Amino acid sequence: MIDVHAHLTDSSFTDVDQVLDRAKSQGVERVIMSTTGLGEFARALELIGLYPDRISLTVGLDPTILSTYEYRMFYGLVNQRSFTMVGIGEVGLDHYYIKDHAERELQESFFRTTICLARSMGLPLVIHSRSAGRHALEVLYSEGADRVLMHAFDGKAGDALKAVKEGYFFSIPTSVVYSEQKQKLVRHLPLEALMLETDSPVLAPVRGDRNEPANLIYSARKIAEIKRVPVETVMEVTTRNAIQFFKLGKY
Ligand SMILES: [Zn+2]
Repeated sequence: MIDVHAHLTDSSFTDVDQVLDRAKSQGVERVIMSTTGLGEFARALELIGLYPDRISLTVGLDPTILSTYEYRMFYGLVNQRSFTMVGIGEVGLDHYYIKDHAERELQESFFRTTICLARSMGLPLVIHSRSAGRHALEVLYSEGADRVLMHAFDGKAGDALKAVKEGYFFSIPTSVVYSEQKQKLVRHLPLEALMLETDSPVLAPVRGDRNEPANLIYSARKIAEIKRVPVETVMEVTTRNAIQFFKLGKY
């Protein structure tokens, strides 16, 4: 399996070696590490340097950061391509923390520029859309984004289904074991549009625990139960989706 969304640069991960060992023992061969700020970047490069066969990198900026300076630095970094990255993310919209109208407009303009950058570089997008699911999708459609993974989508299943028809993917976090909204998403979307994520260190199967990639198996089992298919089928299809989406050629 591939955990397509985890924050291994988080300060709670002082034990990445053991975390990756436990992941492997539970069948998680690779982790797509998402970043949310320039401050994490040195650590992110260190980790992909240490574990090139186990960790891949997507570079992003938390949508609650509304600084032109930070975005300029971020775009500069991505444009350099001086390191290996498999996508841009997480990026997107956050209407949970950003409520002011003018700030939301600014957030959207940064998002639009980022979508264009990803397209021009031929990289897929990993999207954060907290309390802004439909709106984020509409921005993506209007910019013609075609390689899109919606992570931990908290919007409506109907909106998600429409996005699947556009060829978008959805990664289901480990919180699916208790979240009725995520379970509903799984019921409505085809397995062919799903991937597995932990969003470590948050969204653990047990609320409040530190999450880690080894817990991916809980998502796989819950999806298998909802879809009434063998867990092996969930593992196979979601892994294939991740390999093709991120072009993980080594597998
Ligand atoms: Zn995340």
